[in-house]
Amino acid sequence: MTTEAARTGTPYALRRAEVLDTRRITPGVVRVTLGGPDLVDLPRAAPDGYLKLFFPRRRGEEPTLPAIPADGDIGRWYRTYLAMPDGERPAMRTYTLRRRRDHPGGVEIDVDLVLHGDGPGSTWARDAAPGDRIAFTGPYGIYGPRPEHDAVLLVGDETAVPAMGAIVESLPAGTRAEVVAAVSSGAEVTSFTTAGRVEVSWVHGGPTLLDVVTATDLPGERPYVWLAGEAGTVKDLRRHLTRERGVDRRDIQFCGYWRRGRTEEQAAAEAVLAAGATGEDD
Ligand SMILES: Cc1cc2nc3c(=O)[nH]c(=O)nc-3n(C[C@H](O)[C@H](O)[C@H](O)COP(=O)(O)OP(=O)(O)OC[C@H]3O[C@@H](n4cnc5c(N)ncnc54)[C@H](O)[C@@H]3O)c2cc1C
Repeated sequence: MTTEAARTGTPYALRRAEVLDTRRITPGVVRVTLGGPDLVDLPRAAPDGYLKLFFPRRRGEEPTLPAIPADGDIGRWYRTYLAMPDGERPAMRTYTLRRRRDHPGGVEIDVDLVLHGDGPGSTWARDAAPGDRIAFTGPYGIYGPRPEHDAVLLVGDETAVPAMGAIVESLPAGTRAEVVAAVSSGAEVTSFTTAGRVEVSWVHGGPTLLDVVTATDLPGERPYVWLAGEAGTVKDLRRHLTRERGVDRRDIQFCGYWRRGRTEEQAAAEAVLAAGATGEDD
């Protein structure tokens, strides 16, 4: 069955998908492969493109969600979703579209979920099995170096490794890139294939991302900098790069992927309030 979403070709559509496969790619990361008719016209996004995943309240069921209005107004749809009673609303969490494969019969995508606690994303990932149902919107991506950038610096934690991997794999031949990736242990280190000239530093067992970035020479004359991970760490990295390393704010793309001590809903609600109260922080 192909639903309305499959015809639109827009990220602002609700797509339903089935889990085709799951596997642990490291001790702390589950790769889930999703497919189904709604992915047939899944749009392409920047390589750090992310999805908003909606998990069913009970395993094996479809997530129960309001229909997208006929005019496609996803903002109004989202408000209707948020207004669902707490006991009925499927949890929503944000994950990167790590890789897509287009086959004559359809599209499959991989999503890599870090196992870190008992939030709905981690819990779903830990038990995910073929046949499970899920819904999502997206992908939406923000990575976008400009012609004046002669190199790329990517810095992030485990939640950003899927996006950094996708970016590295998309680099044009010969592009110079430096990747600094923090993971919880050496067992979480993975490898990327790339046409770029890429140096990867895996950070674990002592130094912080900030320690390593502080000690790292920036690549190129004018690098495009992409930062993602725990929100406080991202803020510290951005401050260091703009204030102590002379990087122009416009050359930095940054995103807090999660906030210590806050669920994604709590972090999102606070970010809205903070933006309204203080404007953009540097
Ligand atoms: C654009 C974007 C792309 C992302 N891509 C990915 C991705 O590809 N893979 C991925 O795994 N995550 C990714 N994330 C991060 C992910 O959305 C969050 O980690 C999310 O909070 C996980 O949901 P949860 O239900 O497991 O935990 P929540 O219910 O949101 O949080 C529960 C508790 O766990 C803590 N917590 C959340 N994440 C972590 C963590 N990584 N380590 C330790 N504690 C944590 C929270 O502070 C909170 O105290 C991305 C986030 C964004 C914004």
